[in-house]
Formats: sequence, C-alpha cells, structure tokens
Amino acid sequence: MLCDTIRPTGAVPPAAFHRTRDPPTAPTPQSAPIVSSMDDAHRAELGELLRERRASVEETLVVLTSDLEALAAARTDSTADDEHDPEGVTLSGEWSRLEGLRVQQERERTALDAAIARWDAGDYGVCKSCGRPIPVGRLRVRPMATLCVSCAERAGV
Ligand SMILES: [Zn+2]
Repeated sequence: MLCDTIRPTGAVPPAAFHRTRDPPTAPTPQSAPIVSSMDDAHRAELGELLRERRASVEETLVVLTSDLEALAAARTDSTADDEHDPEGVTLSGEWSRLEGLRVQQERERTALDAAIARWDAGDYGVCKSCGRPIPVGRLRVRPMATLCVSCAERAGV
C-alpha cells in the first residue's frame, strides 16, 4: 500500500512534518535514483566539486593551524617582555582574525562532509525541507546547500 507515502498536503506545513530520513520502504520502480532531475553528468560534476572544496578547506586549515601555532609562540615571547607592548595588541588582533577564519573553515568542512555523505548515499541535491530537487545552478555556487531557493528564503538563510 502507498498510504504511507501519499498524504494530503493541505493543512500540513511541510517544513514542520516532512522528514526525509528513513523513508519507510522507498518503493522505487526500476533503479531510478531519488534525484530524478539531476543527470549523471551533473551528479559527477558536483561530486567532484564537493571533493575539491573539501581538499582546499583542509589545506587552508593546515595553514591556519600552523599560523596560529606560530602566533601563539610569538605572543608568549612578546608578552613576557612588556605587557604594554603595542605588538602584543597587534598579535591578539591577528589571533582573533585567524581564529575566526579557522572556525569558519571548520564549519565549512563539516557541511562539506555532510554533503559528501549525502552524495554517497544518493540523496544529494534534494531539499531537506520540501523534498524537491535543488537546481544544479544553485549547487554549483553552494555545493553544500540543503535547501532549495524558496525554502532557503523562507528560512531566512
Ligand atoms: Zn525546498
């Protein structure tokens, strides 16, 4: 029976009730992929894009981490001399800047890992709110996007 998958959409706000995880039986005839609008070429292209971004984020994180370590060493040296050392202020400003970048890159890495996991599972590019395909053009710009344009706008993302 299909009564699990076909529900009247009338009064139910999809964002509140629609859960994409674990569809009960996933009655897909033939071997049709879930993302019917994305062809294999686009899927391959976006998978590559995800992995490239993942690699470059990883590289940036390595650089940032070693910069932060160098800065930590420099800061320890300079604050030992004079606590009013103007360079100490510059160093902590630089520290905040790099630390901010590092946090941002780690967030991006987490989002990319999640996107790669979805890609591997075959449900990449599906809006997690409304279940419709996310346009390829949007995914090229934001490959880790989990919402289609209209759901993202509604969510204020
Ligand atoms: Zn949507």
